[in-house]
Amino acid sequence: MSRTWTASLSLALAVVPAVAMADMFKPSVSQQIELGQKAAAQFRKETKILPDSDPRVRIVRQIGNKLVAQIPKSERDKKPFQYTFDVVDSPEINAFALPGGPIFFYRGLLDSLTTEDQVAGVLAHELAHIRSEHWASAYADNQKRQLGLSVLLILLNANDTAFDIASVTDELLFTLPYSRRHETEADKSGFNLMVSSGWNPQGMADVFKVLKEKGGSRKTEEWISTHPDSDRRIRDIQARINQGGATYPAQRPLSSSVRTRSYLSSRRALPVVR
Ligand SMILES: [Zn+2]
Repeated sequence: MSRTWTASLSLALAVVPAVAMADMFKPSVSQQIELGQKAAAQFRKETKILPDSDPRVRIVRQIGNKLVAQIPKSERDKKPFQYTFDVVDSPEINAFALPGGPIFFYRGLLDSLTTEDQVAGVLAHELAHIRSEHWASAYADNQKRQLGLSVLLILLNANDTAFDIASVTDELLFTLPYSRRHETEADKSGFNLMVSSGWNPQGMADVFKVLKEKGGSRKTEEWISTHPDSDRRIRDIQARINQGGATYPAQRPLSSSVRTRSYLSSRRALPVVR
């Protein structure tokens, strides 16, 4: 790259606001919905999903829908994400959100929890990732890094969007990590949604403690793993609970049908010695 070229490139980039550059690579709300729906359909085909009639699916959906009902109408109108909740029949301790609405909760994670408020903590955090379009932002940042400045300049001259829905791979959909800022934001926003929906936010802090003890696999979610940030995040949530002196309702234990079902299925998963 010649000096002059570099100089004019820098000049061109300097006059373009950073926000505009990020937005150019960011999938729109409707594109996020389309991507999420496709990926979710594929995932449901390839994975064992518990049936609608299962009490564990019913409770996750009941809690999820109660949280969704508290999202302001103005936001729902602007971002008509189609929130769905499924339970994956796997002992993996995990949960993740796809862009545009689908949330998958793993049986292994549900088995580790004891209250509805803890389930709400996981769901509120995942909902926050979708509501704040964290995947789309992470994708835009990733694309900018990958493409480099010269391509960026050409695209800027083209004065068009650089997002191509066909270019999104499964790898990017399922494994693109959220930034630490996104996680902190999802904790805060999830906390507020839990409180406005009538759950005890202690449930969210509990989940981190449970996960810290049990560990777990890493997928999209860093909070599933024994991430070094766990202690800080537990402290932050705890501090928020103690702030303002608000009192919260007692945590509600998960119903015995959910607990029993979890116990039976985990028993079934054990190898049988005859
Ligand atoms: Zn997260």
